[in-house]
Amino acid sequence: VAVIGAGPAGIYTADALTHDDDGPAEVDLIERLPVPYGLLRYGVAPDHLKIKAVGEALRKILERPSVRLFANVAVGEDVTVDQLRDRYDAIIYCLGASADRSMGIAGEELPGSASATEFVSWYNGHPDRESHDLSEVRAVAVVGVGNVALDVARMLLVEPADLEPTDVTEDVLTVLRASAVTDVHIFGRRAAQHVKFTTKELRELGELTNVDVLVAGENLPDEVPADLTPMAKRNVAVFQEWSERTAEGRPRRLHMHFRARPAEVLGDDRVRALRLERTTADGGGTGELFDVPVDRVLRSVGYRAVPVPGVPFDSESHTVPTVDHRVLRDGEPSPGEYAVGWAKRGATGVLGTNRSDATETIRVVTADAAQLRARRVDEPPGVGDLLVDAGVRFVDKSRWLTILDVEAEEGAATGRGRVKLADWDRLLEAAGLVDLT
Ligand SMILES: Cc1cc2nc3c(=O)[nH]c(=O)nc-3n(C[C@H](O)[C@H](O)[C@H](O)COP(=O)(O)OP(=O)(O)OC[C@H]3O[C@@H](n4cnc5c(N)ncnc54)[C@H](O)[C@@H]3O)c2cc1C
Repeated sequence: VAVIGAGPAGIYTADALTHDDDGPAEVDLIERLPVPYGLLRYGVAPDHLKIKAVGEALRKILERPSVRLFANVAVGEDVTVDQLRDRYDAIIYCLGASADRSMGIAGEELPGSASATEFVSWYNGHPDRESHDLSEVRAVAVVGVGNVALDVARMLLVEPADLEPTDVTEDVLTVLRASAVTDVHIFGRRAAQHVKFTTKELRELGELTNVDVLVAGENLPDEVPADLTPMAKRNVAVFQEWSERTAEGRPRRLHMHFRARPAEVLGDDRVRALRLERTTADGGGTGELFDVPVDRVLRSVGYRAVPVPGVPFDSESHTVPTVDHRVLRDGEPSPGEYAVGWAKRGATGVLGTNRSDATETIRVVTADAAQLRARRVDEPPGVGDLLVDAGVRFVDKSRWLTILDVEAEEGAATGRGRVKLADWDRLLEAAGLVDLT
């Protein structure tokens, strides 16, 4: 089986295919980046050490002899989907959803306005990242009420020393140490009870040293509506507790704003302010506009998948279309093609959601197995010889482990634990695929 994408969904899919000793499949994990783990490595915030530690469990799955890794191989570029379909009984797309959504308002393209995706990629050392400079940024608007917005706000407010035990790169620490940020504003379109934050992550913001958390009491419901979900009740209770706090003159402030919809990013050569429209509790417009001066706007209004050549794509839902986990081509289930994870479900769900998704999908693959074996074209199985013939140099498991060793050495040199390599060249050099000397 070829599993395309070695993020959590891909690795849990490999797990579901190979953990059964009675008839284990052979799995080739094909990954665009030189390293596996997808958003576990490049999305999950570096200070969430417990979640990052899920990597240890994923590593055990990758270590199984029946699982092979072909990283640094982009499907649709280095190898085509048709080539793979001829060589595998089944292909499972676990491509994730790595692009951001836009707010669709004027001024969004001004310098200083960026997506949370870009900022997250930067602090997580993604090899495609662009650099960020916060030395002249005092106030930041974070638009969105999901956990990614919380991560972004926390990374802007956290003491850089608290990140030293993590795997963030030295250049990220240098930028954060030189940061001039004093105020972070989080804006939600609807009322406080509608935020999508999980309460544990929300509370973390209120516990940051050197940060005053400010919520205007008039922004909160007078009475907590009785029909709220338990999580919404807990979140409103956190906001209520914050609204009773008085500012203690700490060097940084977090401002929570509800019922505020971005209307325009204002500025000339760069962002100067965010214009917002006051909304009703349900997010409807009231026409009342107000401006909040900020130097940077980071929108966190959702991730979406991008099309990969040869892979069916629904441009309305931004997902790989499926019925019962089977990929649809021209509206019909395509034999031998499946999808798991964010590419199929959209950008929702935590790591564990991909695990149950993988288990359910592999049940369907197993049910189809007899037909699948019958349809493979008589080509040599596996992608290895194709890549060699095409001159594509891939990172296999042993080369990936070498990258991890080099990252450990990199961290040790500065008295830290493992620190990520963030450049393509450095990653490929560590893997022994290029010589930069
Ligand atoms: C900022 C952020 C923070 C998060 N924090 C948490 C958290 O704290 N806790 C939690 O439980 N969950 C968290 N999540 C959610 C979690 O990361 C996702 O549930 C999970 O990563 C989705 O897995 P996936 O494999 O579908 O996608 P991804 O993780 O995106 O993996 C997809 C993989 O496919 C590869 N790929 C894409 N195109 C190709 C191609 N053409 N050829 C080959 N490979 C390709 C990509 O490089 C990537 O490695 C967070 C998500 C984000 C964005």
